[in-house]
Amino acid sequence: MNLTSATQIKSILARHRIHPKKRLGQNFLIDANVLGKLLDASGISAQTRVLEIGPGMGVVTRELAQRAEKVTCIEIDSDMEPVLRETLDGLPNAEVVIDDFLKVDLDKFIGERGGGSWTVVANLPYYITTPIITKLIDSKQRFRSIVLMTQKEVASRLKAAAASADYGSITVFVQYHCAVNSIARVSRNVFYPVPDVDSELIELAVRPEPAVTVEDEQLYFSIVRAAFGKRRKTLLNALSSSADLGWDRQRAESVLQAAGIDNSRRGETLSLHEFASICTAGLGLV
Ligand code: SAM
Repeated sequence: MNLTSATQIKSILARHRIHPKKRLGQNFLIDANVLGKLLDASGISAQTRVLEIGPGMGVVTRELAQRAEKVTCIEIDSDMEPVLRETLDGLPNAEVVIDDFLKVDLDKFIGERGGGSWTVVANLPYYITTPIITKLIDSKQRFRSIVLMTQKEVASRLKAAAASADYGSITVFVQYHCAVNSIARVSRNVFYPVPDVDSELIELAVRPEPAVTVEDEQLYFSIVRAAFGKRRKTLLNALSSSADLGWDRQRAESVLQAAGIDNSRRGETLSLHEFASICTAGLGLV
């Protein structure tokens, strides 16, 4: 069964009387070349357990199931259930769960399925990209690799270098936990229906240890949020006006001095290491 064809996808949709739902980000992959890149990037072997978010009509799921030990996919749209039953016919190692991924207790879900280290694959529904990535990273001990089709602009933010226009608190959060690898730029024309944006295939390789060592992760990310919350302000102003940090001007000044960071810099120019130095100084450890 070749699902990577617009004709085939349209005919299955028509037979099941389904219209793709824009509000659920339903843009189905119809390109064998891009599908091949996604499968190669996920590095799946017969021993791999895969979690797929948003299988849709099963274009990716079918191929995953032919390579992996088991594929468990979570799809919010119950209209896709009969389609998936058809497209995944003969693949007993493909499990379909109809649920909202954002509401699933991932640790329990994976624990109930034998635990171990899983690979995540998703052609993401773009309207909930950040909550999905945050949720995956919150359970990162369950995953070795996360291969995602994202909106091109989101990929740029995740890979961004300090001081670039795309660098933000989501960059620091993701890069702290994962190495971000770009796999391929993907044209909007390889999806049906054609979305309004281009895409990029990326891998988030979960780091065994965070990119930088910090003594207090909560404080670290409070500093990061404060620094980016007041873009274009000096670091001193940004840090001393954060209710979350609760540092007055004098305290922020002495922390920055102890960290060896010029307080007139803009928050968005700081590297992950520099944020870590502020965290260490904020704890009074220097
Ligand atoms: N994997 C399919 C493909 O590549 O052709 C479909 C990808 S489509 C971009 C995104 C899929 O995510 C849709 O099937 C959509 O219904 C599903 N989806 C949207 N929100 C979801 C959620 N909260 N939980 C699980 N699936 C969701």
